[in-house]
Amino acid sequence: MQLNQIIRPDVLAMTAYKVVECPEDCLKLDAMESPYEYSDEMRAELAKQLAHTPIHLYPTPKAQGLPQMLRERVGIVEQADIVLGAGSDELIRLLTMLTGQPGSTMLTLEPSFVMYRVNAEFFGMKYVGVPLNEDFSLNLTAVLEAITTHQPQLIFIAYPNNPTGVPFAKTDVEQIIAAAPGLVVIDEAYGAFSSHTFLPEAGLSEKLVVLRTLSKIGFAGLRVGYAVGHPQVMHELRKVTPPYNMNQLSLTAAKFALQYPQFIDEHINKQKSERERMRTMLKTWSQVQVFPSEANFITMRVPDAQALWQAMLDHNILIKNLHGVHPLLEQCVRITVSKPEQNQLVLGVMQQLYGTQS
Ligand SMILES: *Cc1c(COP(=O)(O)O)cnc(C)c1O
Repeated sequence: MQLNQIIRPDVLAMTAYKVVECPEDCLKLDAMESPYEYSDEMRAELAKQLAHTPIHLYPTPKAQGLPQMLRERVGIVEQADIVLGAGSDELIRLLTMLTGQPGSTMLTLEPSFVMYRVNAEFFGMKYVGVPLNEDFSLNLTAVLEAITTHQPQLIFIAYPNNPTGVPFAKTDVEQIIAAAPGLVVIDEAYGAFSSHTFLPEAGLSEKLVVLRTLSKIGFAGLRVGYAVGHPQVMHELRKVTPPYNMNQLSLTAAKFALQYPQFIDEHINKQKSERERMRTMLKTWSQVQVFPSEANFITMRVPDAQALWQAMLDHNILIKNLHGVHPLLEQCVRITVSKPEQNQLVLGVMQQLYGTQS
């Protein structure tokens, strides 16, 4: 069999999203996972609930009541409808499928989450990436001009942005939504770490879809994300969603997680205060340019990103080297904020490389 006669040429030409395998006992700070795990008592309780999950049955549309729980816990307005996804990654794909056809256009900001562009290509959409300013703030004039020129069916805005962490002014994003002729998806994967959100507005306008996920707040392994939007748009989104995309074990574990909001909130608050402590420490090195962050990671520009990445790996710490990902990310790295003692290890490696802080 000749694969190149069977498989789409654009797929053959693609490189797969690279998930880096961490060496044994490595401190994994490349993917914004939470460092916090359940106590033995909580694990035992979760195990009991998992044992009673009906895995012989498909999940039902009510999804064990998870959407209803999210509505109450997260504060989703009554007018809004919720669609669950196997991570917000699946919802990004489904929203692209919903609007993507030859001749339609996706607009995003650059640099941002790479999966937007990947999905645009999968569904044959024209892709327009509007560069951010050099300080990673939003170039509103450029975005509004691009909207006028390209009339995109779909806009993705990561809010706060990944891989930069920099927040955008809410009023700027509101202007983008007002100017957009189609759907605007506000991807709030890091919403829990920010003081701004579009959740209260979700459901009020057909244009606005807000994406949220449990991944960055402690449960990346569950693969549970959700889209919140206008009922008519969510109705269409359901048509392209596989009927049983969620799995019973994840639904049970997600409901369990939401029953202990204090576990989640405590760790979010710890990561937020560690983020600020880290940023203050990092700024004392004159060689390091630290960007603002409203997420659970810090992006910074260093003299040699590859050298820092390697020095971290030599100490069994995996960070993300962003150099080469986009021209604006020259010599940048991204580091997940972790527990205080682990963050100290990061600072220790940097001290070896850059000397004692001034
Ligand atoms: C991590 C991330 C996602 C993917 O989240 P999952 O729910 O784990 O699929 C989506 N958007 C952005 C901006 C992210 O950083």
